[in-house]
Amino acid sequence: MPERYLFDLHIHSTGSADSRLSPRAAFRRARELGLRGLAFTDHDRLTGASSPFWDLVLVPGAELSTGWGDLLALGISELPPAGLSVPELIENIRGQGGVAVIPHPFSEALQAICMNEHVFDIIHLVDGLEVTSPKGSVDNPRARRLAGEHGKAVVGGSDAHSVEAMGWGFTACEEGTAEGLIDAIRKGKTEAFIRR
Ligand SMILES: [Zn+2]
Repeated sequence: MPERYLFDLHIHSTGSADSRLSPRAAFRRARELGLRGLAFTDHDRLTGASSPFWDLVLVPGAELSTGWGDLLALGISELPPAGLSVPELIENIRGQGGVAVIPHPFSEALQAICMNEHVFDIIHLVDGLEVTSPKGSVDNPRARRLAGEHGKAVVGGSDAHSVEAMGWGFTACEEGTAEGLIDAIRKGKTEAFIRR
């Protein structure tokens, strides 16, 4: 069995107005959880944190607000410019060497900010779908099925806004670096699961 590394790819730090999770506390909790890495996906901003631990990887990311719902951008080095359509946003993310992931698609609890039927407008353009749902550690079978049908990566994250919420959802990958993880998402070679 090849080694498998775990990442929580959807965490809000104090860089998000709705979160009280400091990057410092998040890094410490990630260590306790045995994670290889994490991504801060603050709303429409890149968080300027760096990992205090040599063996804990920070994956750059942001959760972008769009007229169709939220979109996760992972592996980007700068925020896309304002005013882009969703397909243009995805092109920008991928052009930077990043990957675009649809967070919590079809979520009933997050109707106002998640992509519902617009998922079908962009499924062919994105790299992956988040298949773990926030608020109670539930799997998203519809997203999982759709990812399978379209050959897209499955991605897991906790959508944590507090330290207690971290680690509900994980992405597992055979690669232990940010670049390796991003490449694995691009190739659909990740797994995602929830903590039971
Ligand atoms: Zn979020």
